[in-house]
Amino acid sequence: MIKIEHLDKTYHLKNANVRALNDVSLQIDKGQIYGIIGYSGAGKSTLVRCLNFLEIPDSGSIEIQGFEKITSNNGVLNVKGKKLRELRRSIGMIFQHFNLLDRSTVFDNVAYPLKYTGLSKAEIEKRVDGLLDLVDLADKKYVYPSQLSGGQKQRVAIARALSNNPKVLLSDEATSALDPEATESILNLLKDLNQKLGITIIMITHEMSVIKTIAKRVAVMEDGCVVEQGDVYDIFANPKKEITKRFIDSASALSNVDQLVEHHTISSNRIVKLTFTRDSVGSATISKISRDYKIDVNIMLANVDYINADALGGIVASMEGKDEDIKNAIEYLNTCSVKVEVIKHV
Ligand code: ADP
Ligand code: MG
Repeated sequence: MIKIEHLDKTYHLKNANVRALNDVSLQIDKGQIYGIIGYSGAGKSTLVRCLNFLEIPDSGSIEIQGFEKITSNNGVLNVKGKKLRELRRSIGMIFQHFNLLDRSTVFDNVAYPLKYTGLSKAEIEKRVDGLLDLVDLADKKYVYPSQLSGGQKQRVAIARALSNNPKVLLSDEATSALDPEATESILNLLKDLNQKLGITIIMITHEMSVIKTIAKRVAVMEDGCVVEQGDVYDIFANPKKEITKRFIDSASALSNVDQLVEHHTISSNRIVKLTFTRDSVGSATISKISRDYKIDVNIMLANVDYINADALGGIVASMEGKDEDIKNAIEYLNTCSVKVEVIKHV
């Protein structure tokens, strides 16, 4: 488990102070894939840099599975030297721009962190070969980074990050520079590694589609604060904060609804968005309300997402009928665990 408590970090610039982390507390279970999402400047990179102590928080504490709790007091840690190096070694990190050594081969890049670990040449070679197998790059052992695609470069970076058998892998926008296909293959690889090695993965991203594909839990960051956190499915089904809704819209086929409403001459005066969660997604609710309440339901957009293998459905529809009947139909939908949001009501 990783336990982050009351983390604060302010950068002091010439003309201003930037509070990059503002009382951040999070708990991440061992072996979990945990997503942290936020727009640029939210404080995500500062948080991961604090997690492996590339950056020293001003205050707060971090406890990482198997190590004693580290506390910062006015930017001074209660642990240093060998203990801190050991802790750092148990955390691997990958970045948006791979950070590979361009003049070294794939083999040398992956072997680099093993340099001063006391392993023999033969042991290092064996370890690196195993890692290259793991990321499916055995045939690129003596190739230079410039000869690799973006996805392959990130695979090298992943192998390098795993070289010291870390317990935790921090991924800071690791798919943000990749095309959709490479992104998918890297996310699949990370999922695979998570299952095979039981490694805890913290995925920092500004893309909700990444969270949806890979994470079990998510924290949403804004202006240095965690503004919302929870199970990814629950957050998608029932986002509380405006910023979370925006992120979800960016990963949902139903986000076209605004344009649809704006640009089409839709005669209907009432347009609703219905969200069907795992408790209601399979039932014939639409035909039932249409029959029982004598209203016409015209489906304009519909979509089913799978999040952590659970279905989440959405429908945008117009409703025609008597006001009283529509009101009763909406009340009925609410009792069936269908969330109803009125998008337009003239
Ligand atoms: P994110 O990764 O979410 O884009 P960052 O953690 O990089 O956010 O940045 C959070 C805030 O802290 C931003 O306003 C950024 O400009 C500022 N910041 C980050 N690193 C530094 C630094 N080394 N010096 C000064 N300000 C910084
Ligand atoms: Mg960043």
